[in-house]
Amino acid sequence: MGSTEWSMPLQLKNEPLDGHRPIKVRVIGAGYSGIYLGIRIPQRIRNVDFQIYEQNESVGGTWWVNKYPGCACDIPSHSYQYTFNPNPNWSAFYAPQREICAYLQGTAEKYGVLRFVKLLHKVESCQWDDGKKKWILKVRRTDTNETFEDDADMLVAARGNLSDPAWPKIPGLKSFEGEIMHSAVWNENYDFKNKRVGIIGNGSSAIQIVPSLQKIEGTKLSCFVRSKTWITNPFGDSVMAKLGLKPTQLQFTPEQRREFAENPEKLFAFRKIIEVDGSTIHDVSLRDSEMQRGAMVAFSESMKNKLAARPEISDFLIPSFGIGCRRSTPGPGYLEALIESNVDFITDPIEVITPTGVALKSGRSVPVDTLVCATGFNTSSAPPFPIYGRGGLSLQERFTPYPSAYLSVAVDSFPNFFMMLGPNSAIGSGSLTSMLEKEGDYIVKCIRKLQKEDYATMTVKPERMRDWDEYCLEYFKKTVYTDTCHSWYKSEGGSGDRIIGVWPGSPLHALEALRSPRWEDYNWESVGGDNVNKLRWLGNGWSITHSKGEGENEWGGDPGWYIEPRFVDFPVPGQPEDDPEYKLRPFSH
Ligand code: NAP
Repeated sequence: MGSTEWSMPLQLKNEPLDGHRPIKVRVIGAGYSGIYLGIRIPQRIRNVDFQIYEQNESVGGTWWVNKYPGCACDIPSHSYQYTFNPNPNWSAFYAPQREICAYLQGTAEKYGVLRFVKLLHKVESCQWDDGKKKWILKVRRTDTNETFEDDADMLVAARGNLSDPAWPKIPGLKSFEGEIMHSAVWNENYDFKNKRVGIIGNGSSAIQIVPSLQKIEGTKLSCFVRSKTWITNPFGDSVMAKLGLKPTQLQFTPEQRREFAENPEKLFAFRKIIEVDGSTIHDVSLRDSEMQRGAMVAFSESMKNKLAARPEISDFLIPSFGIGCRRSTPGPGYLEALIESNVDFITDPIEVITPTGVALKSGRSVPVDTLVCATGFNTSSAPPFPIYGRGGLSLQERFTPYPSAYLSVAVDSFPNFFMMLGPNSAIGSGSLTSMLEKEGDYIVKCIRKLQKEDYATMTVKPERMRDWDEYCLEYFKKTVYTDTCHSWYKSEGGSGDRIIGVWPGSPLHALEALRSPRWEDYNWESVGGDNVNKLRWLGNGWSITHSKGEGENEWGGDPGWYIEPRFVDFPVPGQPEDDPEYKLRPFSH
């Protein structure tokens, strides 16, 4: 007889197998992702000590932080919300920031998330303790400056990857004596009236800021633009017709909103059209696809038309790289603003910032009262606080020379650590909020497995990380993301050759890949060490759902749960193989 792999005599654990040992979970950030976890973790995990640390004074994440004028969703709001909490009241196709923030706060309240959120709590460092098999967190209360230590079995960074503002590295920036802001660090009390405003950048933020500031009385805008970019149309006429909207209608009338509120099926049908459109335009991300070529022709025409009064702007702006290499945006009103008489479109490179304005390499100086840096976020790096994994390896080091996370959620050497919207989790088309729900579900499944099956740790295998990197490298070769453009989707601050922003596949591909974790891609350590019986989690032979008397038992379980309709997977009677619709139906899960 061969030897067994465990040597300690088995002592049955005197507990039912589904007794839910206590588990401690900490989440960093209460934006879209953190709020989702705040709903699902208490719903699906029992006996959990759960807390979300949020550094700001409110929940909402990026939608709380970004308060610049014109800040709005740049994908249709009906596709930018939780699947389970549709909002019939979006005022516009691209809802403004305040509405999105209110939606998030309302959702958090409705599902009881707020009781888990510690506001004004900034996580300053996280360190894995391999002896205790726990994360040790250092947290600072930003109102009192008091710091304390906390620990957790499972740590989730739900910070998003657009939360660390990147100020431009331009000499003299600090010497500027006027008002200076970043799109994500906005002074809401500042009066722009009659001001000369310099705006650096033409990413999604600048594209929303420019039309808003241009309309303020007496402003004179100088837009400093160094890169080409695609400005797309919201939707094709055919999709707008399917939606029952006129081609240019971007606001919803009170009647339309009432109709959505009174007819949930209409609201659902409306969203479904948007989702189907978003999920089926994936072809556009493939270089030289018919869809990509067609879109380039159509959008270059529409840009030229909108800029007809200033053809030199379209000559500069219209790219030769594919649509989507840089995140393209519909930017309603941006091109229209650029041709207004109070806007100067400046493409000469910036030499230096002076106390009173901007000096260009061409020798020209542009005096400004206010400088707006719409210069994006640090996306090529780890969070701006240290996270140390096994062996003291920092995430910053692990993310050198480029950030990478297996399936966008896990990193080798970082046990019991997951990310939401980490590297490669943006999508070029489709619904980002559905993607983050699937990431959250994946993480919840992992927590349940650790808890139920008495695993102390799970850590993704280094060889699977290598496989993932290799897959990404190969996949992106045929896509527009590797065209020559400057984009936060790329490593090294936008100019590297690794694609680190977007998921390597279609949005539907992402949902399917994340649906069930491949447990074999992880290394596992059992509670109690290597020598314990690996099936000790089977407990004392009882389930908490056993009856100890009439009806519900002492644990609150239902001994007849398995015939409750919500737990029964009803097959379709008849001969489904003859029914083409049945064959096309998605698998139940
Ligand atoms: P971004 O896309 O990274 O754009 C930053 C801009 O600043 C670029 O035009 C960049 O030029 C320019 N820039 C940076 N450093 C500069 C320097 N030293 N000198 C001159 N120009 C400089 O950042 P973002 O506009 O904040 O958008 C980031 C992401 O946030 C978006 O892609 C999107 O995912 C998200 N966002 C979403 C919404 C929404 O409605 N949902 C709205 C806003 C933002 P180069 O391109 O040449 O580097």
